[in-house]
Amino acid sequence: MDEKTETAAESWYGAGVRFECTRCGRCCGGSSGTVLVSDAEIVALARRLELSPDEFRAGYTRRLRGGDLSLRERRNYDCVLYEPGVGCSVYEDRPRQCRTYPFWRVNLHSKESWEEEATHCPGIGEGDLWGDERLLPLLADDGISTDR
Ligand code: SF4
Ligand code: SF4
Repeated sequence: MDEKTETAAESWYGAGVRFECTRCGRCCGGSSGTVLVSDAEIVALARRLELSPDEFRAGYTRRLRGGDLSLRERRNYDCVLYEPGVGCSVYEDRPRQCRTYPFWRVNLHSKESWEEEATHCPGIGEGDLWGDERLLPLLADDGISTDR
């Protein structure tokens, strides 16, 4: 078993971590970041917005230095697909990176990194206990780690 798929039982979060989304929307904007989108995700998002994949790429994405595509941000750093007061406008087709947040490897790397993320996400530390069964599939493909 490699490092990235160590079981939760072997890690600092072996007893599970608590999380329940409050739908505050903070993870969709407010500061600069990237939201990676794969070709398959672009096809789904384009279909949803009744655009061609190329139109979606041109209007809603930007290319990062490494070559990946990210969703664009508005001037206030909100995701281009975020609607204030409403939330994600493409929720059922949101990219994997959005589906797995806050359970990214970078956030669960250490107790300190998880606690640091909790200063941005009020759902961390609240609600359900998330253990191995739910955490491991998310960590194995969090949609943002560079070795995905
Ligand atoms: S910041 Fe956390 S609590 Fe707020 S919408 Fe995002 S995941 Fe949910
Ligand atoms: S795609 Fe939706 S869930 Fe993801 S950052 Fe944009 S608005 Fe938020």
